[in-house]
Amino acid sequence: MCGVFGVYGNDPVPVSASVLTFYGLWALQHRGQDSSGIGSSDGEEIYTYADDGLVAHVYDGSALERLRGSLAIGHNRYCTSGVRENSYKQPIVKGDRFAFVHNGNLPSTVALEDFLNGCGIETGFENDSGMMALAINYHIERGASLSEAIVSSYPYFTGAFSCVAMDLNSIVAFRDSCGIRPLSIGKLSGGFVVASETCALDTVGATFLRDVAPGEMVVIDKNGVRSTQISSTSGSRLDIFEFVYFSRPDSLLLGKRVNEVRRNLGRELAGEYSVKADVVVPVPDSAIPAAMGFSEVSGIPFDHGLIKNRYIHRTFIQPTLEMRERDLRMKLNPLPESIIGKRVVLVDDSIVRGTTMKKLVNLLYSAGARAVEVVISSPPIKYPDFYGINTPIQSELIAARWSNEEIRDYIGSDSLSYLSYDGMIKATGLSEGLFSTSCFTGDYPIDLFEKKLEVGG
Ligand code: AMP
Repeated sequence: MCGVFGVYGNDPVPVSASVLTFYGLWALQHRGQDSSGIGSSDGEEIYTYADDGLVAHVYDGSALERLRGSLAIGHNRYCTSGVRENSYKQPIVKGDRFAFVHNGNLPSTVALEDFLNGCGIETGFENDSGMMALAINYHIERGASLSEAIVSSYPYFTGAFSCVAMDLNSIVAFRDSCGIRPLSIGKLSGGFVVASETCALDTVGATFLRDVAPGEMVVIDKNGVRSTQISSTSGSRLDIFEFVYFSRPDSLLLGKRVNEVRRNLGRELAGEYSVKADVVVPVPDSAIPAAMGFSEVSGIPFDHGLIKNRYIHRTFIQPTLEMRERDLRMKLNPLPESIIGKRVVLVDDSIVRGTTMKKLVNLLYSAGARAVEVVISSPPIKYPDFYGINTPIQSELIAARWSNEEIRDYIGSDSLSYLSYDGMIKATGLSEGLFSTSCFTGDYPIDLFEKKLEVGG
């Protein structure tokens, strides 16, 4: 995952573009907590700054002051492999004429590498985003404008990408032909904003205009907003996992409020299974809306049985298993009064490796729960993700290896129920065809090329 943001402000602006970007990135903190970076332009020069850590810690007043100008782009990075690769912070600047941020992942970079190597450009230790920037830069160095360079490079971008690029005087936003990762445009008094999620538009006082369409490129400059469809598309295939887990509940995806869809996931779940229990407890924060929906339909009272230390960020994102395990215990503490002697329905949005749920079930029993009935507001995750979510190895996915009963046995709960696939689709209020459901179905809308070998039936 990752969060991207961009501002085109008309000069002079009351608040600098970098300050707006800082607030936008803060609102997108949930999409990546590894590093954060901003690039800005005052029409003369491009300035960049990035560092490891959370948005609130990365920037201070003087860093933002140095990021001058009325154009800016920003990025929060989510570390997608086991180590923190310092050199992979964004924005990426190749040459000195543009800066670039990317949310998503290219499962295959063979076409891109072949193109670059054929042009005599070394790809060295570049990741997918670095190679995308190198390709754009290649065309810019040969006289193309930023938007022309993106159009020329686009065929080599074989994967999922929601990107924002900028040069001295314009912002360009573009998305892959399936629109796997979200990207929205907002209107700001005196300018425009693009952001991974609409919650960031709200935060900076922008009004939501529309989503950047799959395969669309939007150029924002002194002439306003121009749209070009640069790739054919058969429509949206937004990753449904954005609804299940990733996006913030106050964001709008495909016109639907994430919070409401999550409540519906819980409502559907309660319609599919009848459980006898005393209390419905969510795994905070992501499962709270689903637990509320479950409680509403089942009639079982909702309570906050697990209290979260909100100052510890997402456990899953910690790269090593040891770090994840330590963090969970630091993060969640059971509330005895809600648990002791009770039959608890524990609601979570998903089970990936199963480590979190095993610990949580154990925690609730140790706190005095009489029974723990686990309900999951999405279907079993059986297939790895190649489009930007950190679940890449199929053998690590517990539901890819084991039956429900084996998983229940492993996590140690009294029961385990997953929402059905149809129930998940119904909860969105949208048609199945608008989504990429690859982690549940193994149906990958963007070709995986050589990565196909990593997926088993
Ligand atoms: P696990 O212990 O691997 O089963 O992790 C499951 C937990 O991680 C659930 O509580 C989810 O809310 C959360 N989660 C699911 N998918 C992701 C993801 N791609 N990145 C970070 N957290 C996730």
